Amino acid sequence: MNIPEPDNAVSVSEIQLPSPRNYIDGSFSEPASAPGPLLHDPNTGGVLQDQRVSDGEQIADALAAVDKAYRVGAWEEYSPAERAQVLELIADRLAAPEYAEKMALADALTTGTAIRVTRLMASLVPFVFRGAAAYIRGGELQQMLPGKAGEVEYFRKPWGPSLLISPWNGPTAIGSHKIASALAAGAPCILKPSEWTPHSALIMAEVIAELDLPRGTFQLVCGNGKTGATMVEDPRIRAISFTGGIAGGQAIASATAGRFVPLQLELGGNNPLVVMADADLDAAAEGIVYGLTNLNAQWCRALGRLLVHRSVKDDLLEIVVDKLRNVKMGHSLDETSDMGPLIHKDHYQLVQSEIDRLQSLGGNLISATPLPDLSGYFIAPTLVDGCTPEQSLGEIFGPVACIHTFDTEEEALVLANGTAYGLAAYVYSKDEQRARVFARRIRCGGVKINGFSLLALSGVAPRGAWGVSGLGEEGTRQSIDFFTGARVVGVSP
Ligand code: NAD
Repeated sequence: MNIPEPDNAVSVSEIQLPSPRNYIDGSFSEPASAPGPLLHDPNTGGVLQDQRVSDGEQIADALAAVDKAYRVGAWEEYSPAERAQVLELIADRLAAPEYAEKMALADALTTGTAIRVTRLMASLVPFVFRGAAAYIRGGELQQMLPGKAGEVEYFRKPWGPSLLISPWNGPTAIGSHKIASALAAGAPCILKPSEWTPHSALIMAEVIAELDLPRGTFQLVCGNGKTGATMVEDPRIRAISFTGGIAGGQAIASATAGRFVPLQLELGGNNPLVVMADADLDAAAEGIVYGLTNLNAQWCRALGRLLVHRSVKDDLLEIVVDKLRNVKMGHSLDETSDMGPLIHKDHYQLVQSEIDRLQSLGGNLISATPLPDLSGYFIAPTLVDGCTPEQSLGEIFGPVACIHTFDTEEEALVLANGTAYGLAAYVYSKDEQRARVFARRIRCGGVKINGFSLLALSGVAPRGAWGVSGLGEEGTRQSIDFFTGARVVGVSP
């Protein structure tokens, strides 16, 4: 197939996507079973790569290896300082341009996210490993605490063999966070990346494989939802960190309920952005456009609903439309693109069908971004006006958000809290104090005032999830603690 090459970009034909491989018990092997999804270039629809999934024997080998590694306990016996050193080595290697650029290119090509965004995400990976190293170097996993009845040794010990399951969006950021946290905790683990985007996990596995860690400390198992479900059901797995959709989270929660397996579930969102009557409308419009375009809005914290005070709605929309006109939608490898196509045809059809549904319910589509002259899965960022709040309760996971108006703050709050989700929210008002009071009443994990990205919070505060958005918290400390349980040893004086 003749794939058109973008300007200002690495050529698609030059990108070597690593072939799907497992890393089990210290060795690489090809996934042995039937073909997984056939990956297409979302920019053009051209065929990229065939995926394969692991068969039952490979899954069994991975489970046996991680279990044995936990029982032998060699990785857990590394002191926190020694584990920190390993994490820093991984960070150093992944910071090398050859790895960082490979991950960024793979993510841009397979997910459709603009290359400048995937480069930014790949550049954060070393910080993820270094942050985990710094936390355990600080002695947080091993402390002596004074007690009335004598000193108490307080340890956090890994629960056991751990399973890490990541989604197709943000595979580099999410995969690295899970690996760094489990390894920092001393937990031998298996990573099951998404069948659509396993490439950055493969690159991280190559780096880890070079370090000669105790056998079975880290496994990579390629496969689909069924592969993940098989491992979830195995009684040897003692902690599961899952990022993905609600259906997967529910399946995992039911499958493990009887085993009391600690779960970290990071699921979907339908995130409100609230524009008060006194907001800086230009800043709010900037946030709205960011929320509709960053990562192509294939992002759990993307804009889901725009809630705007009736008195400023028309003025706000005028500015938003102006800004949308200037968004450059293009090839995901084009360095000048702000946003690219949606990941694959099924997802494109799903998002398009949501737009059609909202339109058939009376929604007016507001959209001004020119589509590129490419045959891929492009959907322009779109606001939908005129639907009721009850018609926009789900997660679309694409560049589409409904507009609802309010007259009072109480109405705005009811709307903001009006879905079963509770991941993120955004509030725009010039009265910061008032915005803070309002923000504290939104039932969700994180609220940003007068801005969009919550990344600035991630180093210091947990990323929480309320309602059906998940269970547990993420963050450097929280995620390492997640893989461990408290164990204390006290000696009578
Ligand atoms: P998905 O649930 O379809 O798949 C996620 C991963 O789980 C994949 O690796 C998949 O193979 C596996 N899987 C699917 N069903 C499973 C099961 N029953 N048991 C075990 N594993 C299973 O999600 P997706 O389509 O890859 O990702 C998009 C979803 O992820 C969206 O809903 C998005 O909001 C969510 N997400 C949430 C966050 C967050 O931090 N809250 C971050 C990114 C993505």
